[in-house]
Amino acid sequence: MTPAPAPAPAPREASGDGERRPDHGPRTNNFRDGGRRPRGGRGRGGNSRPGRASRDIRRILRRPGGPSSGAPQKRVEDYSPAAPTENIVRVIPLGGVEEVGRNMFVVETNGDIFVFDAGFQFTSEDESPGVDYILPNTRYLEENQDRVRAVFITHGHLDHIGGIPFLMARFGNPPIYTQNLSAVMIMKRQEEYPDMPKPNIVVVEAGSTHTIGHTKVHFFPVTHSIPDSMGISVETPYGNVIVTGDLKVEHIDNVPVPEEEKKWSALGAQNNLLFIADSTSSEIDGFSVPEQKVRDTLEDIIKTVKGRLIIGTFASQFDRMVNIIRIAEKYNKKIVMEGRSIKTNLEIAQKVGLLTLDKGTVIPAQEMGDYPPDKIVILATGAQGEEFAALMRIATKQHKSITFNDRDTVVLSSSVIPGNELSVQKLKDNLLRSGVNLLHYRSSDVHSGGHARSAELVWINKKVNAKFFMPAYGYYSMTASHAKAVEQGGRAKDTIVIADNGMVIDIVDGERLDIHKQKVPSSPLIVDGFSIGDMQEVVIRDRQMLAKDGMFVVIATVNLKTGKLRKSPDIISRGFVYLRESQDMLNQARLLIKKTVEDSTQGMNPIDLDYVKNTLSDTLAGFLFTRTNKAPMVIPVLIGV
Ligand SMILES: [Zn+2]
Repeated sequence: MTPAPAPAPAPREASGDGERRPDHGPRTNNFRDGGRRPRGGRGRGGNSRPGRASRDIRRILRRPGGPSSGAPQKRVEDYSPAAPTENIVRVIPLGGVEEVGRNMFVVETNGDIFVFDAGFQFTSEDESPGVDYILPNTRYLEENQDRVRAVFITHGHLDHIGGIPFLMARFGNPPIYTQNLSAVMIMKRQEEYPDMPKPNIVVVEAGSTHTIGHTKVHFFPVTHSIPDSMGISVETPYGNVIVTGDLKVEHIDNVPVPEEEKKWSALGAQNNLLFIADSTSSEIDGFSVPEQKVRDTLEDIIKTVKGRLIIGTFASQFDRMVNIIRIAEKYNKKIVMEGRSIKTNLEIAQKVGLLTLDKGTVIPAQEMGDYPPDKIVILATGAQGEEFAALMRIATKQHKSITFNDRDTVVLSSSVIPGNELSVQKLKDNLLRSGVNLLHYRSSDVHSGGHARSAELVWINKKVNAKFFMPAYGYYSMTASHAKAVEQGGRAKDTIVIADNGMVIDIVDGERLDIHKQKVPSSPLIVDGFSIGDMQEVVIRDRQMLAKDGMFVVIATVNLKTGKLRKSPDIISRGFVYLRESQDMLNQARLLIKKTVEDSTQGMNPIDLDYVKNTLSDTLAGFLFTRTNKAPMVIPVLIGV
């Protein structure tokens, strides 16, 4: 891949146009169709294109004081329900039920609000170009801050802790209850955000019960791909609300092991009102691949591999990482760590006592040459095809001390996170081009997800036996198939709620569900470079527009006395059409610019350049769209002399 030449810098004046549009800022009606952004972004089919483009044109044409502006409409987003009465247990998913990531649930009882997890989600370039990641919307918590008693963190994965540095201060930085490893991970991450308030962490043990506010809360251990994962049971006057966090069931040949049996039976023996459980792998039938099987497969590979072995995994898969290191030590192999997150998490694993390393097991990459290749195991980040992670850099020959050769074996010990398919494909292609022997989870049992599959989910659901059930954590297809599975497993359909983000679910008298017609704000907060805020629709839309149809800049000098142009206007465009082959259109555009400026300044005294600019961009946008069926961002720069 040759890097594209850097674009010439645009003239400085060209950036001053953002103020022209009326609808910037989060409170006006930026979301078309009352609050829901259509998924998928760009029009794909030939037919949808003009529709989208003309909508863009209409947006361009909207101006302050114009007929389409008027008073800002009250958005559905502004719904703020009153505090629930004593006979109501309220549940609100603020994030994580229409997506994988940005998990955050609210459970409210006895006048106490409890928050479950504070995750973030990496975003797609298509929907929100340039945005780093998105967070749950905490407006409900901000408005009811006086009742928020605690945040519970189920485990240390980023989709459960990633939002903490950005979100906690927005609703009063309440105490965070979590287990030791998660606490260490939260604090480690916090070091990267020294300006954010320090979290107030209460380290709890799984199995313990605490009274927080007026409510008894019980923490219990769950099996997942990271140690110290826990579920939480909140006691309400009508029974417990149980939230699992991410989980799976340890089993042997599809029979849950006795510890799982015991734990879930004990929970099920109580009076349970609502069960909220992980849906991530609900679309896969049967039971998950037991971690023991993965361990055996990995041991087999580590033992028998002839050349160097490179294992790509998630740094957050602690158990996996610790196992690989133990197996490597068993066969007297040296370990090379590549990637910051792996090094950080290894430090954490040692700190909390999950791992003790023999001296000399871990060696720097530069010393690899001192050992025979079959004594080397490289643990590398980037199994999801992340562009700048170690695996991709080695595979594309950009790594300073490691290059692959045809005696190397690469194992991708992780499944593909939805949305990463393309980048994983690129990674695989690059790996195979460098001649390595590639093993991945499809071709052998090197990965077991951390999430229960449908048969496990049905099993747990029966065990817990709550009156109501809500599938959580996952895209709609996942929560819906979770619901379907437990329904087929015998649960009555009217006891299941498939929630949307922002949905207010009141359980009245412990008997019936009252789902509010309106939703509380749930449009994502974004982290964009250094700023955090409501979805800055104007910025995102500009980026989408630039990405789709490019920009068209006009620079003209206007005589402020006569309103005439001093000379033919300059035109700069990027990403729109190839100007050299569009001379005819450009000449017409120049004539149109001249005519529009001179017509609109006629009789105007003094000349209002802002008005002229608006008229010019409307006219020009219309012209360009008619000629090209494209709606570039039109930026007129008028200099008065
Ligand atoms: Zn997880």
